[in-house]
Amino acid sequence: MQKIEHIGIAVKNLEKANPLFEKLLGTPCYKMEEVVSEGVKTAFFKNGPNKIELLEATSDNSPIAKFINKKGEGVHHIAFAVDNLEEEIERLEGEGFTILPGFPKQGADNKMVAFLHPKATHGTLVELCQDIGTIENKT
Ligand code: ZN
Repeated sequence: MQKIEHIGIAVKNLEKANPLFEKLLGTPCYKMEEVVSEGVKTAFFKNGPNKIELLEATSDNSPIAKFINKKGEGVHHIAFAVDNLEEEIERLEGEGFTILPGFPKQGADNKMVAFLHPKATHGTLVELCQDIGTIENKT
């Protein structure tokens, strides 16, 4: 497990949240991307070494819609960079953690991602992510 790669924040409306975070961080959103398989639209901000991901649901079935219905807007997950996602998943499963079904898969911002079940991490949703460019081509 490496540094915190980003913090994910669930918002109801990116059009409203983006200008606020631009003011807050003093830096423009550098990327917007839809992840169709997750039912989310994302917006990314960088200030210094820190990266923030805003997430808006694109459908009622989206995990972000469910999160906001239950808990309201706010911090949704903490993402850690890993050097080797497959190895890290194996290590964590060996320690008794559960990876959410359907992962790893491609996430936003050119990453392969996996999530740990929040029940096993005291309620904090933890994302693991690896830059796709650093994954060895096995074919
Ligand atoms: Zn994330």
